[in-house]
Amino acid sequence: MSSVASAPVRVRFCPSPTGNPHVGLVRTALFNWAFAKHHQGTLVFRIEDTDAARDSEESYDQLLDSLRWLGFDWDEGPEVGGPHAPYRQSQRMDIYKDVAQKLQDAGRAYHCYCSTEELDARRDAARAAGKPSGYDGHCRDLSAEQVDAYKAEGRTPIVRFRMPDETITFIDLVRGELTFTAENVPDYGIVRANGAPLYTLVNPVDDALMEITHVLRGEDLLSSTPRQIALYKALIDLGIAKEIPSFGHLPYVMGEGNKKLSKRDPESSLNLYRERGFLPEGLLNYLSLLGWSLSGDRDVFSMDEMVAAFEISDVNPNPARFDLKKCEAINADHIRLLDVKDFTERCAPWLKAPFAPWAPEDFDEAKWQAVAPHAQTRLKVLSEITDNVDFLFLAEPVEDKVSWTKAMKEGSDALLRTARERLESADWTSPESLKEAVLAAGETHGLKLGKAQAPVRVAVTGRTIGLPLFESLEILGKEKTLARIDAALAKLAA
Ligand code: GLU
Ligand code: ZN
Repeated sequence: MSSVASAPVRVRFCPSPTGNPHVGLVRTALFNWAFAKHHQGTLVFRIEDTDAARDSEESYDQLLDSLRWLGFDWDEGPEVGGPHAPYRQSQRMDIYKDVAQKLQDAGRAYHCYCSTEELDARRDAARAAGKPSGYDGHCRDLSAEQVDAYKAEGRTPIVRFRMPDETITFIDLVRGELTFTAENVPDYGIVRANGAPLYTLVNPVDDALMEITHVLRGEDLLSSTPRQIALYKALIDLGIAKEIPSFGHLPYVMGEGNKKLSKRDPESSLNLYRERGFLPEGLLNYLSLLGWSLSGDRDVFSMDEMVAAFEISDVNPNPARFDLKKCEAINADHIRLLDVKDFTERCAPWLKAPFAPWAPEDFDEAKWQAVAPHAQTRLKVLSEITDNVDFLFLAEPVEDKVSWTKAMKEGSDALLRTARERLESADWTSPESLKEAVLAAGETHGLKLGKAQAPVRVAVTGRTIGLPLFESLEILGKEKTLARIDAALAKLAA
């Protein structure tokens, strides 16, 4: 049974539009989306674009496009609107200014005039003395004279939140009870000296105003949680927030060498997966396993199944390892699960420029339809389709030197000549008959089918590996097959 309270669930997904979306961000979106759906709750999508220097409109567009491609939907947010609009923080600056002022008026926040140099010097001194090295509360209760003196020096203050001097304990939905003592959570900045509000302020303020009930996010944000809880309490006292949300911190995702997968790692870029032809459902299926699993340890499932089974209390707090091989294997399973028509349609981008090396007019729809079912069971990612079918649409097979050297051994010319003869008199309406022809040619030269097949495959397709050979020959057709064997024989003779 669900461990979550009966009040309507409201969760949020609130990325900053900086750079390409990465898989960690998608995993967070997925868990929030599944949690919302599972509890028939509301998913709020909010854009945290308060960092003008790092945010860009291009990243924003990419983010939306990526989320749509993945198949996510949201109940409130960009493009759909909602009762708490606007959902872009860059359009909510007046709200943050107002809240910062109210916090100061109530004595819950204050101006801090300390310069960076002063802060650094005091931190170093505290460290040397073995004392807590966070902000020391220097400006908590400045007198009017001290403030005037700082102003006379031309200092511009930041706004700092006054942490209550008390231990903060909360139950993390993934990690259980967590406790932070006061000296480890010093007063912190909420508005920059230039008046720009910081993440520390705008994120909990919006969670409060948007009535978020559950905050599910990455473990990297765990250290901000006690600060946010304290701020929440102040917002409740001011009548701005109703209730402190529950928090659940999702495990780190580890990449190569057991290092935290960073958004700068190439394998964390969502675009890369999209360009390689991962199916959204395959990628999401895999990402769901980063910290969670379906009961019965079934690895391959649909998003509907995930939604039905998803409990936040089942999320594992231990770091999850990103395993590209497993990700590909799961994707391959999802490719196999498509109906053929869907499969052929999803391959479309890789059957034309810039991926396809053949001229558009040489593409043959009938051949494609014939070969597609054979390809569907063999692809890990859709982009592999191009190399698998190019022998059908290129005037000549690709030149792959490695394959050629591997397959064309001494005696390959004799084998190819016999195979050509046999194939010429075979029944071209059945792959079985073509197989018998090559089998018989092999027997003539004392070769098993596998060995006899290799030079034929390379002569016709250019590569040692590919789709089932005899089906491929049948689809390519007798005339082209024989011509390619002739060309290979000529090349061998030269
Ligand atoms: N904008 C924050 C980030 O992308 C979200 C933090 C949160 O979920 O509280 O890291
Ligand atoms: Zn200060």
